[in-house]
Amino acid sequence: SFITLEGGEGAGKSTQMARLKTALVKAGHSCTATREPGGSHGAEEIRDLIVTGTANRWDSITEALLIAAARRDHVERLIRPALKRGEWVLSDRFVDSTIAYQGYGRGLPITLLTRLRRLSCERLMPDLTIILDLPVEDGLARAALRKGNGEMRFESETIDFHRRLRDGFHKIAAEDPERCVVIDATQEVESVSALIRAVVRARLPD
Ligand code: C5P
Repeated sequence: SFITLEGGEGAGKSTQMARLKTALVKAGHSCTATREPGGSHGAEEIRDLIVTGTANRWDSITEALLIAAARRDHVERLIRPALKRGEWVLSDRFVDSTIAYQGYGRGLPITLLTRLRRLSCERLMPDLTIILDLPVEDGLARAALRKGNGEMRFESETIDFHRRLRDGFHKIAAEDPERCVVIDATQEVESVSALIRAVVRARLPD
C-alpha cells in the first residue's frame, strides 16, 4: 500500500511518519519511508534547488516543473520499485502538496498541475492520504522552533499564503473522501498517532 502524509508547516508530518512506520514494521510489514520534494537521490538534489533561497527564487511555473521533475525521479526510482517488491511506502508530502502550495498557495491553475502530475506519476496515486490539520498560527509557531537548517522558505510567505494552503488541503479532502482523511493535529502526539493507526487499519486492512 502507498500512504501519504500531508499538511502545512509544523503539522508534525515527520514525527507521525516515523511513528506510523514503527507501527507497520511491528505489524510485520516491510516499509519504505520517504519524502517530497526529494526522496530519491536525484530528487534530493533537485530539492536543494527548491527549498534553499527565497520563496521567489523561481517563477512559479519553473518551480512546479522542478517539483514535477523531482517527483518523476522519485516515483520511477524509489516508489514504484518498492511497491513492486511488496513493501508499504509512506511519503511525507506528495501530489496534494503541489495542489496546495503551487495551486491554492501560488495561484497556478489546478488543470496545469494535474497535467504535470500525470506526466510524473502516470496512474500512480496514494491508496490513503492523511492530512494533518491545525490552525496556521500554531503550525508556524511549531515550525519556527524547528527550522534554522537553511530551509527557511516558509518565513518569507505571508500568513494569508498559509491560510490558502490550509483551505486548499480541506478542499482536496472534500473532493476525494475515498482517499483522504483529515486529522486534527492540535492533539497530543500520541493521540494523533493512535488516530492515524486506527485510520490505516480501517482503510487498509492488509
Ligand atoms: O515538508 P518540508 O518542510 O520538508 O517542505 C519543505 C518546504 O518545501 C516547505 O516549507 C515548502 O515551502 C516547500 N514546498 C513547496 N511546494 C511543495 C512542497 C514543498 O513550496 N509542493
